[in-house]
Amino acid sequence: MSASAPSPTVPAVSTDVIIVGGGPAGLFAALALKAAGFDVIVLAGPRRPGLDQRTSALLDGSVSALKTLGVWDGIAAKAAPLRVMRLVDDTGRLIRAPLFEGRCEEIGLDAFGYNIANADLNDGLRAAVGRAGITVIDAAAETVALAPDIATVRLAGGGTLTADLVAGADGRASLVRAAAGIDTIETRYPQTAVTANFSHSRPHEDVSTEFHTPSGPFTLVPLPGQRSSLVCVVTPSDARRLLELDDAAFGREIERRSQAILGKVVADPGRGRFDLAIVTPKRFGTARAALVGEAAHVVPPIGAQGLNLGLRDGAALADCLADARAAGTDIGGDAAMAAYDRARRADIVSRSAAIHALNRSLLSGFMPVHGLRGLGLWLMDQVGPLRRAFMREGLQPARPQPRLMRGVLPSEAA
Ligand SMILES: Cc1cc2nc3c(=O)[nH]c(=O)nc-3n(C[C@H](O)[C@H](O)[C@H](O)COP(=O)(O)OP(=O)(O)OC[C@H]3O[C@@H](n4cnc5c(N)ncnc54)[C@H](O)[C@@H]3O)c2cc1C
Repeated sequence: MSASAPSPTVPAVSTDVIIVGGGPAGLFAALALKAAGFDVIVLAGPRRPGLDQRTSALLDGSVSALKTLGVWDGIAAKAAPLRVMRLVDDTGRLIRAPLFEGRCEEIGLDAFGYNIANADLNDGLRAAVGRAGITVIDAAAETVALAPDIATVRLAGGGTLTADLVAGADGRASLVRAAAGIDTIETRYPQTAVTANFSHSRPHEDVSTEFHTPSGPFTLVPLPGQRSSLVCVVTPSDARRLLELDDAAFGREIERRSQAILGKVVADPGRGRFDLAIVTPKRFGTARAALVGEAAHVVPPIGAQGLNLGLRDGAALADCLADARAAGTDIGGDAAMAAYDRARRADIVSRSAAIHALNRSLLSGFMPVHGLRGLGLWLMDQVGPLRRAFMREGLQPARPQPRLMRGVLPSEAA
């Protein structure tokens, strides 16, 4: 079968791992698994160009992994460095947190990370997947059946694939997760994120600014040139109102809410809308199925964590399967999937809990909560070791990272 086969109709084919989902988490997992020596087929679903207007701030470990996989050089010019992290209390409440401003050089980095449009990242990943000779089929998985010794995926439009393991990178409403019988715990918030990209008259100077407002964060993240992306978390009714504005009025609204720190704003056409929730599956892997990306964790867009977690999923999966194969055990069996579950649990659960706590502290009308948040931010701003610990923990958890995040190929010894 050729790479990027356009036809949804394929004969029965067997491989090591089928990845369901051609978003950034799925394509990255495919590259990681291929680098670990596995045969992989990606079922990417029908292509829908221009649909995802999100950008992702890729933090240090994610960039290392993309460099190690040979993806970074092709996309670096489309990514903007984030060198200063600024938090502004815009809650207007009595006890307000002071401004926190951290610089990457304080923790010995050239940049905290790089912000890139998901569409550009996906194009770069897709090109790398093609170069690696990985088969990508632009068809959806219609059914997934997990037997004790084999996983079978039927394609919409005909065709069957079998594998030792199916990786579900199929997003929030994961078919693979449902087929594996994995339940989720879900917390919904009365908040909606409105996303857009825009150009502006003043330079951003590589500063990412997060205004903490009573309805959630309002975040401006640099893009290359005098351009930035916006994530504006508001109530669902406010979101409806923002989505109905024409581009000129929406630009003025960004200007107003950002206190014009970037000067005059011209909004690009097109806006995204995402209802905020935390969704955590009860398991991240079970015999014949592993979950990666948003299939494994949905978190609100606070602190640029979602896709960074998603890339760590793919990298950790490659490590676990490489270790299983080296030990001569079944790569889709109970033991390998229990190891994957253990490898991802602390990272995903602790990040989700931290994001929940921060988001709740913004939404809470309870004064002591604001006092604590203000005190925390004040301490972080004033106390050097705390500042650095906060900045480092935002980038990467202290626990051991998957090999790719450390610049090591999964096929190499840890
Ligand atoms: C407003 C906002 C801002 C964000 N900012 C950041 C940030 O700065 N940094 C960060 O790290 N993260 C960020 N995130 C999170 C990040 O965008 C997501 O984690 C990431 O896009 C998820 O990628 P994914 O590949 O898991 O899922 P998706 O991008 O949803 O991809 C899933 C893919 O699976 C396909 N699919 C679904 N069902 C099937 C099927 N049955 N068969 C075949 N294919 C199927 C879909 O078509 C889709 O292509 C943000 C999220 C939001 C909402």
